[in-house]
Amino acid sequence: MKKLLIATGNAGKVREFAALFSEEAIQLYSLKDFPDLLPPVEDGCTFSENALIKAAAASRYSGLPTIADDSGLCVEALDGKPGVFSARYAGEGADDEANNLKLLQELTSFTKNRRLAAFRCAIAFCTPEGFNVTFEGELKGLILEKPSGSGGFGYDPLFMVPEYGKTLAELPLEIKNRISHRGRAAAALRLYLAKNGYMQSKA
Ligand code: IMP
Repeated sequence: MKKLLIATGNAGKVREFAALFSEEAIQLYSLKDFPDLLPPVEDGCTFSENALIKAAAASRYSGLPTIADDSGLCVEALDGKPGVFSARYAGEGADDEANNLKLLQELTSFTKNRRLAAFRCAIAFCTPEGFNVTFEGELKGLILEKPSGSGGFGYDPLFMVPEYGKTLAELPLEIKNRISHRGRAAAALRLYLAKNGYMQSKA
């Protein structure tokens, strides 16, 4: 059976990817199976660069084909910020609440029609032989003036999806996973792996 390492220690992400491959005959591993691997410095300027850094390091170390993702929020009025700094926008170790507050402060002088934003995600696939490819997904929306909803994580309560008239924190997870930046990048990855013989259907 083919093997695939998911280069994340985040249990939620492992579950999301496992669901994506649930119909396929593929043996999945996560970073929990490689506890001594030190995380690489994520000093890329783009989501794709950071996803590649993580996937390549884990693939070299493990000797397995590997995927890794990187994602964040890009706000048009802030020239794409917080971007690759989304997790630590309000400073190193900042939590979601602090990051959301900083975002609201930065946008106080911007009216509704100048609050366009997009969540972006890149997923990289690397083999130990050095082959690599990345897939990207995007979800466009608007940043509200105050949070709404209690689901999701990160900037979800501030991110309005115009097609649904709801924030990502108000939408059921099933819908979020279908339309999200991560869901779209993951769908492209899945198609690629299936087409290139990295996994076979269980049936
Ligand atoms: P990561 O690279 O996927 O761990 O995401 C980096 C940061 O981007 C997270 O800590 C969040 O602040 C933000 N982010 C990424 N994806 C989402 C999402 O789906 N909803 C809300 N925030 C997100």
